[in-house]
Amino acid sequence: MSDSTFTLDLNEDQKEIREWIHGFAADVIRPAAAEWDEREETPWPVIQEAAKIGLYSLDFYAQQFFDPTGLGIAMTMEELFWGDAGIALSIVGTGLAAVGVLANGTEEQIGTWVPQMYGDPDDVKVAAFCSSEPDAGSDVAAMRTRAVYDEAKDEWVLNGTKTWATNGGIANIHVVVAVVDPELGSKGHASFIVPPDTPGLSQGQKFKKHGIRASHTAEVVLEDVRVPGSCLLGGKEKLDERLARARERARQGGERVKNAAMATFEASRPAVGAQAVGIARAAYEIALDYAKERVQFGRPIIDNQGVAFQLADMRTRIDAARLLVWRASWMAAAGKPFESAEGSMSKLYAGETAKSVTAQAMQILGGNGYTREYPVERMHRDAAIYTIFEGTSEIQRLVIARTLSGVPIR
Ligand SMILES: Cc1cc2nc3c(=O)[nH]c(=O)nc-3n(C[C@H](O)[C@H](O)[C@H](O)COP(=O)(O)OP(=O)(O)OC[C@H]3O[C@@H](n4cnc5c(N)ncnc54)[C@H](O)[C@@H]3O)c2cc1C
Repeated sequence: MSDSTFTLDLNEDQKEIREWIHGFAADVIRPAAAEWDEREETPWPVIQEAAKIGLYSLDFYAQQFFDPTGLGIAMTMEELFWGDAGIALSIVGTGLAAVGVLANGTEEQIGTWVPQMYGDPDDVKVAAFCSSEPDAGSDVAAMRTRAVYDEAKDEWVLNGTKTWATNGGIANIHVVVAVVDPELGSKGHASFIVPPDTPGLSQGQKFKKHGIRASHTAEVVLEDVRVPGSCLLGGKEKLDERLARARERARQGGERVKNAAMATFEASRPAVGAQAVGIARAAYEIALDYAKERVQFGRPIIDNQGVAFQLADMRTRIDAARLLVWRASWMAAAGKPFESAEGSMSKLYAGETAKSVTAQAMQILGGNGYTREYPVERMHRDAAIYTIFEGTSEIQRLVIARTLSGVPIR
């Protein structure tokens, strides 16, 4: 927490880090983007290169995460995703699982598990955060994966099927959200670490996707997965207290309390918004250059207001999206609660911006924009996930409208 005054000027350290990330995004990520998009595989060599220079490491993300201005993670995401969203998601996907542990774990759990999520530069690892299920996407309360405590052995037994898990099945460590008390709906959920090579956890279907194809997305099947009691994030005592409070509230007719998965998503929304800003900026820059060079009717197409005004709108939206992302990021770092759902606002607006700006960029590139010779069609495919994952745009609007009105809008 800090009293840091809000400023739009990055400090010297931040500028230097941004340049460094931008260099990696321009020299390593962007040139590899088309290949890994076609291969639809995790770009392990690129993750490894990032690890070698310290860009894929717990230290680096912790430093950015705890940046008192709040802008470290936002800046990192924007630059990496400017390079390519699929590869960048493979690099930062582990962070969602890490945030799951940071949001709910004890200091000891954070110290034990988070470093293992990244591995080391000679043997890189990734982690997965598994909340969504086939029948529980937006409706997290419909979750069915069950965690039952075996007191005699001090072990938790997990059973169920998770879906859409980024890095699911290829991860070293899976963070799994499961139901511990079905009577309490989403208040009866808890998060668990599933350590490497735990019997009973397997990868189900790997999805073939529209975009972010370098990022691995799969089902995760849990069959009598036994984890030690110490893998319950936050510990048993805290869970029992939380459940007792939730039962008491339920008896009294119920004030809303946050659940484990929601705590993770809320903390990560501005960061996801920053990823969308990066994609939008990349497509906009390509469209701007193209519009200045492409000649039709004897003059560059940017000479037409119809094209130039589109570019003006694109850039305005991108800057507005970044400001919402930076505001929410700064508020989170300064310990200011999102009383008007500022985190959701940033993700909603940035996600919609990425989708529309990349579509406009394709339009400005004409036929070329529609081909895989130019990167904007890939950027448009990648951008489409930003109105779907980490809470769809409709769910963000629901959160914003409920927060602003106090009315349980459905
Ligand atoms: C590539 C990818 C990666 C992902 N990574 C992860 C991950 O790492 N971990 C993880 O746990 N999950 C992950 N997800 C899951 C993602 O968060 C969900 O897909 C998302 O929450 C939406 O759930 P759903 O797909 O079941 O859609 P549904 O909830 O079925 O929604 C379908 C449509 O109905 C709308 N809708 C639903 N309810 C309402 C309502 N009340 N009001 C208005 N409209 C509504 C939605 O907005 C949407 O348009 C990932 C998904 C994808 C595609």
